[in-house]
Amino acid sequence: ATPTAIMVGTGKAAELGILISGGDALEQARRLTTVVLDKTGTITRGRPGVTHLTPAPGFDTGELLTYVAAAETGSEHPLGEAIVSRAREGGLSLPQAERFEAVPGHGVEALVGGRNVLAGNLALMRRHGVPTGALEPVAAQAAAEGATPVYVALDGRLAGVIGVADAVRPESREAVGRLRALGLDVWMLTGDNRVTADVVARQVGIDHVIADVRPEDKAARVAALRESGAVVAMVGDGINDAPALATADLGIAIGTGTDVAIAASDITLVGGDLRGIVSAIDLSRRTVSTIK
Ligand code: ADP
Ligand code: MG
Repeated sequence: ATPTAIMVGTGKAAELGILISGGDALEQARRLTTVVLDKTGTITRGRPGVTHLTPAPGFDTGELLTYVAAAETGSEHPLGEAIVSRAREGGLSLPQAERFEAVPGHGVEALVGGRNVLAGNLALMRRHGVPTGALEPVAAQAAAEGATPVYVALDGRLAGVIGVADAVRPESREAVGRLRALGLDVWMLTGDNRVTADVVARQVGIDHVIADVRPEDKAARVAALRESGAVVAMVGDGINDAPALATADLGIAIGTGTDVAIAASDITLVGGDLRGIVSAIDLSRRTVSTIK
């Protein structure tokens, strides 16, 4: 495309809240065959809330929430923030954790009031040998409703399950439908569990789902799609998404996401409206055809 066509095109896009880094990004948008969407914060709003709260026998709800929220206070993960908000709204006063460690792709480990607290997915519980059978039906029910089950253990004993759900952005389903109508394959890529991921995918009309992906493996999954011949746009918001955004043929960041994701991308959707991807592709096709 000529510099003038690119300037006019990217200027129009900017008015729609689609910031395009330049001519190369438009050229890549025109060639795309595949769009990979992160789940939390990209397909969904990124402001999850607690929807399920079930203590294990012998524990009570207040105790469960107090320990897990104290442990999650140091977390920057949206799941952790949702749990802390719920505890604060409930007026619980949270003790300061003596020790805190985020375990990427798994959850958190902390020492609170002299007790060991674990909060995270099944893999975290397995890693510490915590039996989870008693609450797996509860977790399965939360997942079937589209929530992410967070298992909590106190001193190595299962203390409860907390379900955290994030609403789908209202435009996501339409965006997926329009991308598919343009002939693109649409995938979801998430660190979340298979059941929750499939429920959310179904809500927006996605049938290719890669779930249970560890943060360090997201980029490899994008690379594998490229090696199979796809020209891939990766769309994400999180720190975890940055390597995948950089690996894709076209990286697209959600403007309300992390600075790291925005820096790793070629296009930023300022308001996070996924229909902006469709507009960028339309524009790239028109801009390139004008100068042919
Ligand atoms: P994503 O952001 O795609 O959901 P992550 O790799 O950040 O994926 O996390 C994968 C999974 O690990 C989450 O779905 C959740 O089950 C668990 N997890 C991660 N961080 C936390 C946390 N702070 N508290 C509880 N669970 C967590
Ligand atoms: Mg995300």
